[in-house]
Amino acid sequence: MKITNESVVFSFSKKNEAAVCVDVPATIEVETKDCFSNQLCSPEDRMEQLDWDKTNPATGPIYINGAEAGDTLKVTVNKIKIAEQGVACCLEGEGVLGHRIKGAHTKIVQVKEGVAHFAQGIEIPVNTMIGVIGVAPEGEPVNAGTPGRHGGNMDNTMITEGAVLYFPVATEGALLALGDVHAVMGDGEIGVSGLEIPAEVSLTIELIKGRQYAYPILENDESFSVIVSKPTVDEAVIRATELMYDFLTERSELSDTDVVMLMSLAGNLQICQVVDPEKTVRFVFPKVYIDRAEF
Ligand code: CA
Ligand code: ZN
Repeated sequence: MKITNESVVFSFSKKNEAAVCVDVPATIEVETKDCFSNQLCSPEDRMEQLDWDKTNPATGPIYINGAEAGDTLKVTVNKIKIAEQGVACCLEGEGVLGHRIKGAHTKIVQVKEGVAHFAQGIEIPVNTMIGVIGVAPEGEPVNAGTPGRHGGNMDNTMITEGAVLYFPVATEGALLALGDVHAVMGDGEIGVSGLEIPAEVSLTIELIKGRQYAYPILENDESFSVIVSKPTVDEAVIRATELMYDFLTERSELSDTDVVMLMSLAGNLQICQVVDPEKTVRFVFPKVYIDRAEF
């Protein structure tokens, strides 16, 4: 099954009409536009002409038959195939260095054989990742540029091929949507953009009935991480650490205080992004130290 990039939403909302309904388990190909709806394709395309209402399109939503509030949606990223060019930008007043720059700037970057050709002599190996992916939130719609408990614009460099995401389902059908693929991005995304690029993503979707965590959890071969977005990095740090502590104590024979010490010695608190309306961090913990390393 395939969904084209004609079916997009600009918010995560239980009111969004489903682009497609699937029975799980399902494997589905999803075509995504870049975060500017592919409006910036050449050096002549100016940011000043950008239609901002068309930023952060998320393809979908995918209605998962049988999903309801209280469940967990398990999404495996099988493959991310990217286009041959992407766009990076920075803007006065935006991002950590927005006060140090004037105007709006874009750069078209060619991507070939796993390398982004940024400038003469500066070639960056790609780390293809999904910036926006999530389910409909419980309450009011959330703009696709904002991350939260539902996922959304988490801009997490670990959402790559092979990653497995676990989302708390808040509404009937879950309503999964995704977009904003980056060929490469640094942790923090300090200048407000990664290398924004159209893509085709292959996902496998499964459903875990009757249990969930409050925020998205990511699993890969090496680790589990909890992904938390809050108005400040400080708040996100506390919540992500608490949630990982809960996750580990439920899966470990160690005493609670040993879990704290082990988290302090072997866990990694890392920044996803600091430039969106809510800031996102992840607490990453190696599977090798978890007695029952499963969701
Ligand atoms: Ca993003
Ligand atoms: Zn992006």
